[in-house]
Amino acid sequence: MSRVYNFSAGPAMLPEEVLKEAAAEMLDYQGSGQSVMEMSHRSKVYDQIIKEAEADLRELMNIPDNYKVLFLQGGASQFFAEVPMNMMKNKKAGYIITGQWAKKAYQEAKIYGEAVELASSADKTFSYIPDCSDLPITDDMDYVYICENNTIYGTKFQQLPNTKGKVLVSDISSCFLSEPVDVTKYGVIYGGVQKNVGPAGAVIAIIREDLIPDECLPGTPTMLKWKTQAENDSLYNTPPCYTIYICGKVFKWLLKNGGLEAMKQKNIEKAKILYDFLDQSKLFKGTVVKEDRSLMNVPFVTGNEELDAKFVKEATAAGFVNLKGHRSVGGMRASIYNAMPIEGVKALVEFMAKFEAENA
Ligand SMILES: *Cc1c(COP(=O)(O)O)cnc(C)c1O
Repeated sequence: MSRVYNFSAGPAMLPEEVLKEAAAEMLDYQGSGQSVMEMSHRSKVYDQIIKEAEADLRELMNIPDNYKVLFLQGGASQFFAEVPMNMMKNKKAGYIITGQWAKKAYQEAKIYGEAVELASSADKTFSYIPDCSDLPITDDMDYVYICENNTIYGTKFQQLPNTKGKVLVSDISSCFLSEPVDVTKYGVIYGGVQKNVGPAGAVIAIIREDLIPDECLPGTPTMLKWKTQAENDSLYNTPPCYTIYICGKVFKWLLKNGGLEAMKQKNIEKAKILYDFLDQSKLFKGTVVKEDRSLMNVPFVTGNEELDAKFVKEATAAGFVNLKGHRSVGGMRASIYNAMPIEGVKALVEFMAKFEAENA
């Protein structure tokens, strides 16, 4: 067996330890005589799996008691609609457009009410985070929305926007559990788990209880009402059982390895290796302004499309896979989530240096 270094933006690498544990439990989960894939979501044994996953996530992120943790389906993309459906009392909200995912959320919100663009970095292909210290936020806005780490463009909010007292909603799909967060600064934090937490199939939403409304916009499906999900502890219907089980294993792996502060230090160290190389390279160039660089997604280019393609091809053959940039940006992108070992980043940089020497 030989495993590659997988730089995919998502679904992405998972810790090998977690995969091995899941493999060992595949046929018989802890003496139950069944795989977790086969068991009832109403069984005692599954109840313990989902409860323990929530408790471990609460510990990892230091989530206060007045926040609900929901495990949902439909991906982050469906949550783009759930936010206005559950939160647009005044039918007006502010969106900061820092990339494609923020834009998609903004466009989705427009279906339900007035979504206002508060700031945007579209003018420079989303290569920076706009100044959010004094945004045109009005009193009648129900919330302010951001995409905190921009998976495609490789930027991250280093500082949260000044929301002028409005509730902050943040999509953290691609920086989930990559570093500590102060949950109290947000009304709603959510993300698809397939980037940095687990296999595809679940969204985790952390929602301040007072923001879970009795009434949603007319026509909101039962499943998409946060109240339905909150009152049933994410078990209103069959949840993505296996995905939640693997997420739970990743939470335990994180706790065992020092929690989110330790993860942050590792992620800083890994990203620095790659960014330092890009900054001195004569062939490769990072595409993002230095101060807004993401620790998770690192886009770069050679400036020559043919050379980019040659690099991706040779890298793939050498066991560095999924380095092709998003179709909207081109070039390359290395996603270096929690599960990417530092050896993987070092090996990639060595490979890039060799490619540079050969193609000078
Ligand atoms: C991948 C991604 C999404 C979309 O996730 P789906 O689960 O595929 O809907 C949304 N936001 C961000 C920041 C992402 O990285």
